[in-house]
Amino acid sequence: MVTGGAGFLGSHLCEKLIEDGHDVLCMDNLFTGTKDNIAHLMGNPYFELLRHDVTFPMYVEVDEIYNLACPASPVHYQFDPVQTTKTSVHGAINMLGLAKRTKAKILQASTSEVYGDPEVHPQTEDYRGSVNPIGPRACYDEGKRCAETLFFDYYRQHKLNIRVMRIFNTYGPRMHPNDGRVVSNFVIQALKNEPITLYGDGEQTRSFCYVDDLIRGMMGLMNASDDVTGPINIGNPNEFTIKELAEKVIELTDSKSTLSYHPLPTDDPMQRCPNISLAKEKLGWEPTIQLEAGLKKTIDYFKNII
Ligand code: NAD
Ligand code: UDP
Repeated sequence: MVTGGAGFLGSHLCEKLIEDGHDVLCMDNLFTGTKDNIAHLMGNPYFELLRHDVTFPMYVEVDEIYNLACPASPVHYQFDPVQTTKTSVHGAINMLGLAKRTKAKILQASTSEVYGDPEVHPQTEDYRGSVNPIGPRACYDEGKRCAETLFFDYYRQHKLNIRVMRIFNTYGPRMHPNDGRVVSNFVIQALKNEPITLYGDGEQTRSFCYVDDLIRGMMGLMNASDDVTGPINIGNPNEFTIKELAEKVIELTDSKSTLSYHPLPTDDPMQRCPNISLAKEKLGWEPTIQLEAGLKKTIDYFKNII
């Protein structure tokens, strides 16, 4: 089962699981996910969509759970922050309860946001983070932190087979066009020759992982030996300033867009970059698709949908 399976990452995961011969139950309340993302899988007898909200208990028989349900972009998770916390916390409790009853392996899609605005750079898994617990990003950051706590308590208390993955910024086809994330925003703005909206001075950094690399890492973690619980960082360690990203997108789209500067959102982290030594050691995983190649595929996708 993939919760959040109709979303950006979830739909790619469902697709790869089907390709590998699994029987896939995609569970989603379609808050930010869409049927379009999984329409190509709908006719397959080994694929099933179940419309359900993860904050409510659910009774099905499954042997592996990928728990991805949660809006991921600031615009979407701040739309209904109480529901965002419920989705992470009640969602984790419900899915862990299901895993306990069915003895399923369960993977949590956690996030680099658990590190908040980090003082340690690049971030290793043992860094405990610097998160504002009462700011506008807290519903997401603290919700995900509490979900990690629940995963490790179920592991210690109930001996569940858990995997916790800390996902760093990921991009690619099927990103929601209106989710306000930087890659989708810049690509759409550039394709329309509209101003590129740089928040702050554009000197804050992110490292961008292409979706195919990320999904390979996610499935690698699920299939790793049982002692690999994580938390484990999965992301691309090549770091760029947001301004560099804007310039790269303008170049690749041959756009006439100019840069326009806007205020930096509250609690926007200044830098973010994964240390992926643990993923290399435990999973033999590292990303293979670099920014330019991944952006070209993403640009082709957005050209088709706008
Ligand atoms: P997304 O918004 O495209 O997907 C989330 C999916 O969860 C959507 O299909 C949405 O409809 C569904 N959902 C939301 N609330 C739900 C609920 N209460 N019940 C059932 N379904 C619900 O986002 P994404 O980028 O695909 O992210 C997937 C997961 O990966 C999320 O948990 C996110 O926190 C995590 N993650 C993503 C990134 C990234 O860069 N994309 C980075 C870090 C972590
Ligand atoms: N950003 C930007 N312009 C945009 C959208 C985002 O400059 O139109 C910046 C944002 O302030 C942040 C970075 O790009 O510093 C990444 O933002 P995103 O929302 O994609 O991810 P997150 O902040 O969660 O890493």
